[in-house]
Amino acid sequence: MRAVVTQAKGVMELADLPEPGSPVAGEVVIRPEAVGICGSDFHFFLGELGSDFPRIQGHEVAGIVEAVGPDCRKDLGIGDRVALHPLSSCGRCYPCRVGRGNVCDNFSLIGIHEDGGLQERLRLPEAQVFPTSEPKPAVAALAEPLSIAVRTVKRAQIRPDERVVVLGAGPIGQAVCLLARDRGASVLLIDPVQGRLDIGSGMGAEVLPWSDREEVTSQAREWSGGEGPEVTIDATGAPDAIRATVDMAASAGRVVIVGMSHHEVPLRVFSFTEKELDVLGVSCCQEDEFAEAVAFVEGHSALVERLITHEFPLERAPEALEWAMEHPTEAMKVVIEQEV
Ligand SMILES: [Zn+2]
Ligand SMILES: [Zn+2]
Repeated sequence: MRAVVTQAKGVMELADLPEPGSPVAGEVVIRPEAVGICGSDFHFFLGELGSDFPRIQGHEVAGIVEAVGPDCRKDLGIGDRVALHPLSSCGRCYPCRVGRGNVCDNFSLIGIHEDGGLQERLRLPEAQVFPTSEPKPAVAALAEPLSIAVRTVKRAQIRPDERVVVLGAGPIGQAVCLLARDRGASVLLIDPVQGRLDIGSGMGAEVLPWSDREEVTSQAREWSGGEGPEVTIDATGAPDAIRATVDMAASAGRVVIVGMSHHEVPLRVFSFTEKELDVLGVSCCQEDEFAEAVAFVEGHSALVERLITHEFPLERAPEALEWAMEHPTEAMKVVIEQEV
């Protein structure tokens, strides 16, 4: 079968690999139809997420069930479309024992620690497989980035009538806007790129171009009526944006960090003691949240589809990844599609 293999740091190529074999008890074989490319794919490809090469990337995956092993759930039938939850956890460590297996000490993600969706067949545990009625595979694949947003609004405990500022209008920032609007909150989306803000307006957000940290902080506080927004969310990982989320948040507010980076950020310690901010990090989601994301995508298919800006066939995946890395402001969501 064909697969796209990241052979080493910065080297991705089409290869011919053996089939994965029949599923054993509790396993399913999927034929991936659509794989979304995201920022963590860039980090892995550039060797910034370890060096577990060779690896088949792709963790935002929708596909068709091709074989079901013995003793699997009855809702998994051959020919069904499914979305894949990329994460599996050990069940034994402290986070697993307290019901937070999404930050398991021994967690494993397809496309990062195990082979992912950029291949013609993929065998994995049934617990990671979620049936979906979404007719478009590329839209169904976006259940994964949407699931991060489901986790974000849940951690932030966003309530109707609250004011939420989201910094960063990439796919995760856009998805957070959608979910926060769905909870009834007002959302202000901030980004330097006008094209991304235009997409955000379509998601129901008010928008503000990023100028500099102090200017944006005062404009966001003004937008909130002067007290500061109850919830501020960073979806950039950029130090200035993170500093702004802390500075602009209302006293007794919540600051949520979902953007990924290796940067360090200087913060004024008094922001935490004077304002009693709750600072919440967000990683991948839990299984029930993945199911919520699948249902959200099914119910908001047309809106979610607006995030897809470019589609490429499997054999052009290496070119698609490089193109997306070189054009961060044009590429909202790049999806690799395979004919099934
Ligand atoms: Zn991703
Ligand atoms: Zn664990």
